[in-house]
Amino acid sequence: MSIERIKIRVNGIVQGVGFRPFVYRLAKDLDLAGYVNNDSDGVAIEVEGLADDLNTFRDKLRSEAPPLSRIVDLKIDNIPANGDTDFIIKQSQQDDSATTLISPDIATCDDCLGELFDPADRRYRYPFINCTNCGPRYTIVESIPYDRPKTSMKRFPLCPECDREYHDPADRRFHAQPNACPVCGPKLTLHDHKKIVETGDPIQAVVDLLKNGKIVAIRGVGGFHLAVDSHNDDAIMELRRRKGRAEKPFAMMAPDIESVKKHCQVSSDEEVLLKHYTAPIVLLKRKPDSDLAGSVAPSNNHFGFMLAYSPLHHLLLRGNFDALIMTSGNYSEEPIAIGNDEAKERLFTLADYMLVHDREILQRCDDSIARYAGGKSRVIRRSRGYAPRPVFLEKALKRKILACGGELKNTIALSRDNTVFLSQHIGDLDNPSAYSFFEHVIDYLRQILVIKPEIIACDLHPEYLSAKWAKTRNDLPLVEVQHHHAHLVSVMSENGVYEPTIGIILDGTGFGTDGTIWGGEVLIGDASGFDRFAYLQPAALPGGTAAIQNPWRMAVSYLYRTYNDDFRNLELPILEKLKPEDIEIVKRMMDQNINSPMTSSCGRLFDAVSALLDIRYSVNFEAQAAIELEMVADTSDDYLYEDSIAQISAGGDIPTTPLIKEIVQDILDGQSAAVISSRFHRSLAEMFIESVKIAKEKTGINNVGLSGGVYQNVYFFNYLLDRLEKEGFNVITHSEVPTNDGGIALGQVVIADALIENQIKAR
Ligand code: ZN
Ligand code: ZN
Ligand code: FE
Repeated sequence: MSIERIKIRVNGIVQGVGFRPFVYRLAKDLDLAGYVNNDSDGVAIEVEGLADDLNTFRDKLRSEAPPLSRIVDLKIDNIPANGDTDFIIKQSQQDDSATTLISPDIATCDDCLGELFDPADRRYRYPFINCTNCGPRYTIVESIPYDRPKTSMKRFPLCPECDREYHDPADRRFHAQPNACPVCGPKLTLHDHKKIVETGDPIQAVVDLLKNGKIVAIRGVGGFHLAVDSHNDDAIMELRRRKGRAEKPFAMMAPDIESVKKHCQVSSDEEVLLKHYTAPIVLLKRKPDSDLAGSVAPSNNHFGFMLAYSPLHHLLLRGNFDALIMTSGNYSEEPIAIGNDEAKERLFTLADYMLVHDREILQRCDDSIARYAGGKSRVIRRSRGYAPRPVFLEKALKRKILACGGELKNTIALSRDNTVFLSQHIGDLDNPSAYSFFEHVIDYLRQILVIKPEIIACDLHPEYLSAKWAKTRNDLPLVEVQHHHAHLVSVMSENGVYEPTIGIILDGTGFGTDGTIWGGEVLIGDASGFDRFAYLQPAALPGGTAAIQNPWRMAVSYLYRTYNDDFRNLELPILEKLKPEDIEIVKRMMDQNINSPMTSSCGRLFDAVSALLDIRYSVNFEAQAAIELEMVADTSDDYLYEDSIAQISAGGDIPTTPLIKEIVQDILDGQSAAVISSRFHRSLAEMFIESVKIAKEKTGINNVGLSGGVYQNVYFFNYLLDRLEKEGFNVITHSEVPTNDGGIALGQVVIADALIENQIKAR
């Protein structure tokens, strides 16, 4: 048999995930000669040997690739043999035609955990242990290609022992860029407000401080956390006071799955999600007998739990805490602190002590949030562990696009061919530091992905800061995308759906093409356009933002519209509790049309019902009224508001006055909030189902896409999904891409490409 040689180019997530050592070992096992190397294009391999062995090599390259890698594209060419006798790993080369993907940060692997708690291991209790299968990635990268000198590990020269591991292809730490040990790697220090606290064991010192009710800022992987004992009500209330966070639930970290199960119901799917290498915060149903402080998540049936995902976390928690509050290190909704000096400035008003390390965090990444619902995992906040892993489209786009996302929960996207890079969670842009983070992420992703966008896409809303920013980039063509259209195409693109789809797009706020505020929309369309088939009958938003913060205003708005002046005579708890003059002011605003824009928002309807049911009149975090409405729902009730559902007979307005009437009648009849909440959720879903049935009759379209922040309501989402499927619809939903505004940049990218393409064709 003759000797042959092939050249293989591998694209995808193949750097920083142990791909080269895998190739090396595979080639050595098969007695093949040649080389492998990383470049900014991916991984290049040349192998030479017997034809059979080359075939085996090709097969195993795919079938046995490391678990964290993802091969997107593999090109193979035959080239002449050159008589190589050995297989080597070549040095990385700089190349500017990069299509390489950098890996997200990965939770500590079991091998490393074993060593961490093995007294005989040289890394016993070393808080920065990692290997090619785990550890920080995206958050420590300065530029590409992904090599130690281009990461924040560059200031830690490897000691001889680490250096040996790094260069030994048989070692688990071969080319592990963040490789480190107690001799050569990053170190921890504990600080109080004045100085370094001298202690032989900073972790034990922090454990003691936390047990004594102190608040400690802890530098982690993608930023700082504020840690507090989850059993200590006083300490939690103090943290709430300092952080300006009255009631929003805090996320917790547990050392292991057993600890989570003490406090929450955990299904096998939820367990998989918790243990996944992305280690998101998972929203779980709390157990009634959990002994955690009530102030962790007031008025909420869920706890957000993540498992320890860095060695530092494992050392802190194991044997010490079953649940530790680990909330983002920030004041209110600011971006989390990442630098030590920054943290001293920003977090010392919040924390009593600070546990820091000297491995710089170069890219800010919040903890991601996910949940399991309707048979799939659903990412709600896509950040650490996910970013910058792209979304792969089924069809390549014609041009490179930068999409600027929305305003709240902003993320941006950059695209090349069939790959859309969704950034990590950036936050609410009306916050000045979130806005500069937004600008940083755009620059940084352009640089490490080597993408020069040809088009900019932004939201249609004239006041969104992301849209204003886009309009200052005069060098590139701009495409403005309607908010709910972006939601629809986001869920279609994630699912590879291209044919026209009916979207039930439900959220709080989005700027409509008619200049009003939309948010309860049945759209029919695809990337190149849409029709607004139906929408919730618009209601006044008395006071604009004030109405969003005060759901009682929405309740008055709905009551007034439903009953005119007679609403005052209704014997409702809300009308007894509100001051008559407040009601009068709101009524007058609507009468005189002062700052009372009309909105079809679904989120505001939830708010109104929450206030009508005497659940929540004013909110201190987004969607609080709707969440509390969901939490009380009696899921065993099965009565529906048939009159409201029967009203739906065509496109256009989806009347909500009958719904308000039926709800008010139930209140007057003495039905409980639990029962009415349940009826409202299910009846509203049925109203949208009626609407899409009519849309289907008219168009023949059987695909229904669900997108928008309202679908974070699991009771509503599960009910609607199940019922639509029973009606025979092909329902497409979000999984990897957030259903809230964190996902709209994806839709913007795909729409911008289609619209520009159509413009060119029309010429
Ligand atoms: Zn590891
Ligand atoms: Zn070392
Ligand atoms: Fe939205």
